[in-house]
Amino acid sequence: MAAEAVKVVVRCRPLNARERALGCAAVVSVDSARGRCALRNPAAAGQPPKTFAFDGAYGQEHGTEQIYNEVAYPLVEGVTEGYNGTIFAYGQTGSGKSFTMQGVVDPSTEKGIIPRAFEHIFESIQLKEHPEKGVYVKGLSLHAVHSVVQCERIMETGWRNRAVGYTLMNKDSSRSHSIFTIHMEICTVDEGGQDHLRAAKLNLVDLAGSERQSKTGATGERLKEATKINLSLSALGNVISALVDGRCKHIPYRDSKLTRLLQDSLGGNTKTLMVACLSPADNNYDESLSTLRYANRAK
Ligand code: ADP
Repeated sequence: MAAEAVKVVVRCRPLNARERALGCAAVVSVDSARGRCALRNPAAAGQPPKTFAFDGAYGQEHGTEQIYNEVAYPLVEGVTEGYNGTIFAYGQTGSGKSFTMQGVVDPSTEKGIIPRAFEHIFESIQLKEHPEKGVYVKGLSLHAVHSVVQCERIMETGWRNRAVGYTLMNKDSSRSHSIFTIHMEICTVDEGGQDHLRAAKLNLVDLAGSERQSKTGATGERLKEATKINLSLSALGNVISALVDGRCKHIPYRDSKLTRLLQDSLGGNTKTLMVACLSPADNNYDESLSTLRYANRAK
């Protein structure tokens, strides 16, 4: 698989009200012109920051609109041409994954990647009705859609159904991966009047929070579940880095349910984009370092 089929960008959100109230310093700086992100260790004053290079780096002044246009647009355009595409948001809880994928309605510049992809797809293709196709995962449904609004409704239902539990880190701590898949069939007619059907899938994935479980205070079943989440995230990292490496004969898809589910949308003729989300706050230094390392490995 060509290395350019996987793109990794980072996005650092602004300090939030809580972090400002706590007097947190910002330890992440973004050099968007060079696609670099630097992280300063608050416990090692005077040490140079650790610098990482990506296919794009976005800071608080950059909206989702710009991120979509620069890195998601070409991928979704590829889907309308018959290539599979997968977009992941990775990062600790509260780092901006849902903000990036789902976004907020107001201001509309902060509409997320998912609703932007709906609009993009509906603007660029002629749609034909497709019958219900069946069920791939227990409890998973496939819906034929005819408009952006229908897509948005399905997305909202999915979001409501998402198992979200309470942990000490954040009452909205996301303990589940959310995968939204758009199946497309593109019918073209050649000069001889023959129909050609191409199928492509777009996976829009808001991953569960990547935070280390010691920090969340989880115990018992929660801890088991959390351990599984960490395992699936590391399995995903292994698959992506094996694909990027290109020399590996064995791609470890079978190591987690997540990678098994996404197997046909990772590698092959798939374009993959990972948006690694960061908090700038000094008290999140360890998690930010781990996110940057994870994202760097996926390159
Ligand atoms: P996650 O999905 O990673 O747990 P969220 O997307 O819910 O995190 O973001 C946590 C909070 O930070 C939300 O209130 C969200 O609106 C805000 N936020 C995240 N990213 C940004 C950003 N780039 N600019 C402004 N606010 C943001």
